[in-house]
Amino acid sequence: MRTPKYGRRIRKLAEAAIEQKRASYECPKCGKKKVRRKSFSLWECRSCGTRFAGGAYTFSTGAGVTSLRLIKEYSKE
Ligand SMILES: [Zn+2]
Repeated sequence: MRTPKYGRRIRKLAEAAIEQKRASYECPKCGKKKVRRKSFSLWECRSCGTRFAGGAYTFSTGAGVTSLRLIKEYSKE
């Protein structure tokens, strides 16, 4: 009884991760939608060649966005 329920949940999470991993993201540097996942947490723009450290399976994570905002705030001081 417990196995199918558990399996469905995990499969759904895995599918979402794979989908995000395969998608192209907009490059913050050149603005083109050419950023692809290169390896674990490493994203590369196929247009300008810039590399980004992002999330493991998605380009930007909630934690990443928060820390970027904090870095910006601290560098103003
Ligand atoms: Zn670019």
